[in-house]
Amino acid sequence: MPVVPKFSYIQNRTPAGRIPGVIMRFKIDKNLKVLAAAMVAPKEPENVAVELCARFIDAGMIEDTNENWGKSVLRATGPQYISDVCAVLAGFLYGDNSRPVPSDIFNAFCALTIMGDGNCPFCGGTLVYDDTEGHTVHDGDYYTPDTYVIDNYIYHCAECGKTIKSKEEL
Ligand SMILES: [Zn+2]
Repeated sequence: MPVVPKFSYIQNRTPAGRIPGVIMRFKIDKNLKVLAAAMVAPKEPENVAVELCARFIDAGMIEDTNENWGKSVLRATGPQYISDVCAVLAGFLYGDNSRPVPSDIFNAFCALTIMGDGNCPFCGGTLVYDDTEGHTVHDGDYYTPDTYVIDNYIYHCAECGKTIKSKEEL
């Protein structure tokens, strides 16, 4: 099997970074850090999150669709030969797609979560502002109203529908 030479998925994007839509990536979590550290020439997890995902999109093993956001790699890749998956993974990690991939590395890969590049912490979807919640500080008097302090900004994710509360405005 030939080594996938380039990240055509990324390179086909405009210089601004993307064609309409988003660049799919993996969630930066402990599994991704395991993979980043396992590379022959380790890279920052932020880069691995995008580039490794692109390899699998290029290889036709993960479809670039928001249907996959929030899913684990294992679910998104569907039925594949493990040897094919390992070849792409080894090509990325070691620059040698025939090199064996240790089982802990393979397991970490299978547990990766696919994300969009929006703010939703669960799937990378786009957050839609709903409301704030807060409390009133009784510091007012006859002339001045009480102060309302915002505790959380409340959003929901347009993709997965989950509610996200944030101390900061997103
Ligand atoms: Zn979401």
